[in-house]
Amino acid sequence: MRTIGVLGGMSWESSAAWYRLANERVRAERGGHHSAPILLDSLDFAEIEAMQARGDWDAAGRLLAEHARRLEAAGAGVIALATNTMHLVADQIEAAISVPFVHLVDATARAIKASGLSTVGLLGTAFTMEQPFYRERLARHGVRSLIPGEEDRRTVHTVIYDELVFGVLNPDSRQRYREIIGRLVDAGAEGVILGCTEIELLIAAEDSPVPVFPTTAIHVDATLAAASGDHP
Ligand code: GLU
Repeated sequence: MRTIGVLGGMSWESSAAWYRLANERVRAERGGHHSAPILLDSLDFAEIEAMQARGDWDAAGRLLAEHARRLEAAGAGVIALATNTMHLVADQIEAAISVPFVHLVDATARAIKASGLSTVGLLGTAFTMEQPFYRERLARHGVRSLIPGEEDRRTVHTVIYDELVFGVLNPDSRQRYREIIGRLVDAGAEGVILGCTEIELLIAAEDSPVPVFPTTAIHVDATLAAASGDHP
């Protein structure tokens, strides 16, 4: 298995889950004392969050591309960016490295197609829900995405930045997310993408009447497959 380079820390609460899941999967598959060979580059989220807030995606792209290059130089054979939002600058990262980049949105779209669905709700940060990079990438795979209304989007975004990235799991917020998922289902969603790596810390399959697509878990599986030589 090739060494996996993970760009993490965005936030570390979800990177910790990413790391744990990857190791659990390898232990379950390979048994014994096996674990996942990982180089984790965990950034200071405050820097990233400030760039997001001022819309300086170019600087964020340059920074993440530089970190990806360092991971490759340190021996990573595949690179994974453990956040949905920062896939906004995935092209800059991919252009900076010569090893495979495991694109989270592609992996998620494939999981949706494999389950036979074509229209799904998308929950994530305002950047993920509102900017074209995510939904257009899904559409290229033939996946149609629905996003919540304006007030619901604000709720989803605020819960991520004010609670989930701090590890705060609030039952009231879980209930509000359930109601938002319900409205997406009423609007025609056959499934729901948990399109922020922290959401699956709060929401599980039983919180939704339709299948959920947890992007941290999906991305971990795709990355392990790529590290084992199975990169689509
Ligand atoms: N981890 C989140 C995501 O998957 C949000 C935090 C960030 O903006 O990077 O989008």
